[in-house]
Amino acid sequence: MNAQYIKIKNHIDGEWLETSNGQYEPLRNPSTGAVIGEVPISCQETSRQATAAAAAAYPAWSSLPLPKRMDYIFKIHRAVEDNLEMLAQAIAIDQAKHIAEARGEVSRVIEILQMACSIPALIQGETVQGIANNINGRLIKAPLGVFCGVAPFNFPALVFGWFIPFAIGTGNTFVYKPSTESPLFMQKMMQLLVDIGLPKGVVNLVHGDREVVEAWYEDDNVNGVCLVGSTPTAKAIAEGCGRGGKKAMLLGGAKNFLVAMEDAPMDLLIDNILMSGYGSAGQRCLAVSNIAVVPEIYDEFVERLLEASRKVTLGDALNPDIFMGPVISSTAKERILNYIDIGQKEGATLALDGRNPKLPAENHDGYFVAPTVFTDVTPCMRIAKEEIFGPVLSIIKVGCIDGALRMIRNHDMGNGACIFTQNSYYTEKFISEADVGMVGVNVGVCAPHPYLPFGGIKGSLIGNNKVQGKDAIDFFTQSKVATVRVVNPKGSNTAAKPADANVRSCVAS
Ligand code: NAD
Repeated sequence: MNAQYIKIKNHIDGEWLETSNGQYEPLRNPSTGAVIGEVPISCQETSRQATAAAAAAYPAWSSLPLPKRMDYIFKIHRAVEDNLEMLAQAIAIDQAKHIAEARGEVSRVIEILQMACSIPALIQGETVQGIANNINGRLIKAPLGVFCGVAPFNFPALVFGWFIPFAIGTGNTFVYKPSTESPLFMQKMMQLLVDIGLPKGVVNLVHGDREVVEAWYEDDNVNGVCLVGSTPTAKAIAEGCGRGGKKAMLLGGAKNFLVAMEDAPMDLLIDNILMSGYGSAGQRCLAVSNIAVVPEIYDEFVERLLEASRKVTLGDALNPDIFMGPVISSTAKERILNYIDIGQKEGATLALDGRNPKLPAENHDGYFVAPTVFTDVTPCMRIAKEEIFGPVLSIIKVGCIDGALRMIRNHDMGNGACIFTQNSYYTEKFISEADVGMVGVNVGVCAPHPYLPFGGIKGSLIGNNKVQGKDAIDFFTQSKVATVRVVNPKGSNTAAKPADANVRSCVAS
């Protein structure tokens, strides 16, 4: 153990705590494979201790005047801005996200926090005056209580931003379980929440695996659960929440298409595919995976993509001069290599093989896969159907835009899809017919700005609720409708007379 050894801790009811069961998992640096610390694998009892702390904090927090609650959101915004570099380094260390992308992720959280600062405008209810004589209808948006959140490894900061500012800004309290593979961002962020003086118990942190989450389904203190993760995990949590009667917001996995039409601006197209397909080593939920190309540009496109992909440099995520870091773990690397085998067995052409890449000496034990490109892929192959979550691209020849749209429609996942074209007919047709939740035109990553909701459809979203934008307010509040008869204390109110004496409104009678 050296001075840099990272000891991740839970944070419950205002205190940094070790786990009560003493179980830890090693935390590794994916760029080198070295153990750099340890993460608690908490038990159900610890998980329930955290929800009890959040429930105890709820009455005071939810009854705080809104401007006072918003003061904390402004302070969090300022703290993230002031500590951008420290937070980005944390992401680059344990998740091994390239340092430039880690800075980009924290910058996006700052924008999300700006959006959360408009909660006072977004949380306002509605009033309908005069629904009967002297009777008004009023809808208010109220907090629910305790929400719990589960994060994937690949966006430790972004998912914090999607959940916590909106949950607590609307008056709820929170328990958060980061991924055991990238817990460091939240350890740093939690300390910032402590430093700004957030009251104890409003945000609690519990590290561990599924056991932590499974404790919430039957826990009376818990009102809702949110997840960003793979589709099997989203389905498992949906089942648990259904049994336990908890509100749920569950974003699942993805398999994103990019369609290149004959008039696609070629330089822009290639640059964007490199960023989208190989950025974060292909481990983004909006990373392009299947590329549908029309015959007119197919040969030129393949040649240009292979040439550019061969130039991608690999190395330590903290080295700003390289393009791509490692994937998250040895297990992830094995899964990706296995898909490369599957693609070959299925008859696709392995046009660029990313196995055994050349690496700097210090990265020989890191979890690296270089850009990999399959051509001659068909939509029914497993490499085109299943989420690989690595820097592997499948190129599929399509006759026309209708063929591309049909493939997208027939796919089980529906997170994002992009088209590259200068033609407004193709653009409008794609926006209206692509069967996905997020569409991009001449962009490689179609992530909506935080002012708008983020989320897919079909297998990429279990249920209806999406993160960000006004949707976040809807998820973290419940609407309550009041019917109010205004009675004149001096007794001059007269009973309402229905226009038709045979029709009696239940409120006006
Ligand atoms: P994962 O599903 O393996 O794990 C996500 C989280 O769920 C982790 O914290 C994990 O501990 C927990 N978990 C795992 N199994 C569980 C279970 N049975 N019950 C309860 N909790 C469980 O996902 P990952 O590998 O960490 O992240 C990558 C996945 O996340 C990919 O599928 C990717 O597409 C998806 N993702 C989706 C979005 C989106 O916006 N839709 C964004 C980022 C990542």
